Parts: sequence; C-alpha cells; structure tokens
Amino acid sequence: MIKIKTFGGYNKIGKNMTAIYVDDDIVITDMGADVEKLVDFEGDRNYLSLNDTPSLIKNGVIPDDIDFFEKEGKKVKAIVLTHGHLDHVWAVPFLAEKYKCPIIATPYTIKVIENQVLNMRLKHLQLVKLNTGTKYRVSDGIEIELVNITHSIPNSALTAIHTKYGVIMYANDWKLDNNPTLGRKPDYERMEQLKAEGIHTLIVDSTNADQDGYTFSESIVRTMLEDVIKKTLDNKTIFITTFSSHIARIKNIIEISKKLNRHVMVFGRSMDTYIRSAIDTKIIERGLVPNVATRKEQINELLKYVKDRPGKYVVICTGHQGERGAFLDKLTTGQYAYKLSSEDAVIFSSRTIPTPINISNRNMLQKALESSGVNIADNVHVSGHGSKNDLKILLNLLKPKHYIPSHGGLNKLSAGIEVSKELGYELGKNAHLLMDEQEIELA
Ligand SMILES: [Zn+2]
Repeated sequence: MIKIKTFGGYNKIGKNMTAIYVDDDIVITDMGADVEKLVDFEGDRNYLSLNDTPSLIKNGVIPDDIDFFEKEGKKVKAIVLTHGHLDHVWAVPFLAEKYKCPIIATPYTIKVIENQVLNMRLKHLQLVKLNTGTKYRVSDGIEIELVNITHSIPNSALTAIHTKYGVIMYANDWKLDNNPTLGRKPDYERMEQLKAEGIHTLIVDSTNADQDGYTFSESIVRTMLEDVIKKTLDNKTIFITTFSSHIARIKNIIEISKKLNRHVMVFGRSMDTYIRSAIDTKIIERGLVPNVATRKEQINELLKYVKDRPGKYVVICTGHQGERGAFLDKLTTGQYAYKLSSEDAVIFSSRTIPTPINISNRNMLQKALESSGVNIADNVHVSGHGSKNDLKILLNLLKPKHYIPSHGGLNKLSAGIEVSKELGYELGKNAHLLMDEQEIELA
C-alpha cells in the first residue's frame, strides 16, 4: 500500500512537508517554514527556541504534525530533505527530534541545519549525510537514494524512495540546468535507470508550471551579470544584492568582479551563514571569498575604503526583497556611515517574491534608491524552478504511474495538471490534485 499525506506546500509556496506511507512504514519528505509568516513571527526577536514550537505551529509558520505524531509517529522511519532552502528545512529543529529517526540529506543541506541548530541544545537529532548516487536502508522494505539535480542552492537532490511497489520520487525543487556554473548537471542517466525500475509516484515542484517555455541556465545570468558590471561606469561603486543561499551566483559575481579588476566585499549575516557552509563542505574554495562582514562597526570600517576609492569595489549584500534589517534597508535608512549617490550603482540579481509585504518593502527601497540618484539594474536573474517545457521533459524522463504536482497554490498545481494532460495523464485517474492536509491511497 502506498499512501501520500500532505502537510504543507500544496496550498501556497512554502512550508513543504509530505508523508509517504509504504505499508506500515512512513518516510517524511521535507520540513519547511512558510517564510512569509516566519519573517512576521520573528519580528525583532533574535532567537527562537524549542519552547516556541507550539506557537510556530499555531501561527502556521511550520507544518502541524501534532495529531499525526500522536497516531503514527512510531511508524516514521526517516525524514529526507531535498535541499537547504528555509521552506524545505527550517522546521527540522522544531519538529524532527521527536520522531527518533535518521534525518537524511546531502552534505551541504546537513551543514545548513547544523548551523541553524548550533545554539538549540538538540542532542538527539540524527543527521545523516548521504551523497547523491548512494542508497541508505531505513527499514526492511525501504531504501532512500538521493539523485543529483540543479536548483538555486548547492547540493540539491531528488528523493527516490525504493519500495516493493516501485520508486516514489519526490522532486521538490528542481530546474534542468545543462550548463550549471557550480556543481554537476542533472543526473539524467540515473533518472533513466529509475524509470526502467518503474516509478510508482512522482511528487513534483510546480512553482513555475504556469510559465511558458524553459527556465534558462545559470550560465546565462553569469553572462548578464558580466555585461551589466561592464556597462557600469568605471568610477561607480557597485552594490549587488542576491539570495544568500545562491552560492553559484555569489561565486560568479566574485569571479567576474576580480576579472574586471574590482575588489569584492560581502556584507550580511545570512551571507555569512550560507557561505561558511559552502566553504566547510568544500563547495567553494576558502580563498575565493573575502571574510563576510556582519557587525555594524566592521561594515562601517570597510565602507570607508569603498568611499575613498570609487569604482574599485563590488559589494555583495543582503536586502533584495527590501526586507527590514538587511544591509540595503539599513544603508538607505542612514544606519551606516555611507551615503548613496549618483556615484553608486545597485544591481538586483534577484526578483521580488510577490507577497504583499515584499512588494511594499521593495517599493519603499526603490523610492529611497531613486531619490539618492543611484543607477539601478533590476531582475538580473533567472529562476531556480523548471518551467512548463522543463516539466514535460521531466515527466517524459520519469514516466511515473501516478503524478502529483506540489509546491504552489491551486493555480500552480492546476497548471501542473494541465501539463500532464498533454502527456496523456488524466485527473483523478493517474494525475492527482492534493491540497494541504489531505491524503490519497494509490494502487
Ligand atoms: Zn528551493
């Protein structure tokens, strides 16, 4: 018997968590946060502890597994995490320990969690590093395998759960980047082999299932970035803001800047966390990135150099969503000893995630930047999620018996269903539309 039970990631983007029943055993895939609600909840708090778990659940920040744990907790044999984004792993310290089972992920994803739990006194988290291409047995009837995939954070993986009914694949999140600038391209060969073994069910990220065409490669952004940096006049200081976990992007910005004879500085707490994890897991070389400055005095000290030598620096920083407390927010609200002017350029290597709060924050940031006279370049970015045509390729590659779109609201999931219809799937027969907190048994 295969049964899928959804917790989060099916009503809106974020808070991913799904339970997969294989007879009497259960594997949980992902344990993420609703990032929008998390930002709201955190407010000005510096630190969250395990005591916050009930209110995190009550406020919808993390999945509600209370009844499930009481009823089925003992059946859970493993928790598998696909990648280190907050909407896939952030809830682990709050929910995972009580299941007393291995928590399996690639080395970078494990490192991200280790950094998150550093001060949380979690003694019984059984973190298991599993490299892609290897298997890990979690019960008599279940083996877990991670398959290399591209996304927008290092070491992302598809989860393949080997069972006597076939392979259950959980593909959340992914893009098909055949020219990645960091790491390997998707493991198509292994996917072909898994198809030959027989894929019983595919649960798949449909965040961009409503976008026509293909999602472009990260190598395209590298070219775009080089072009924009070159076009910025030699006497201007460049501030580039991007996702802190997008290590490939950060690496590219550093390499391009050095090639164009600019020094690099990196500012911001989250930059520090993700970059340190990447150095510790040897994803990037220690010598590539300068020390990340996180404290105000430290940043002010470095900004003096930037001010004295216009045109000589590229500053990589946080704040692309206009979020409060990030570097760009503090810079534009006068919290650092540096005043932006027409002598500076700001490049957004990002896109605004369209939630009401982000849109309003980003608008405020835009106005502040415009009034200071800086040169602005926006959306120097491509998505980390596969589009409609990519989804068709993946479905054809894996040919699952059952197909379940995930990671989006009803619109995205419906778009995922439409794509599958073109390939012969039928809603209710072998294509299934699930929302949060639903379950389905699949023959
Ligand atoms: Zn992701």
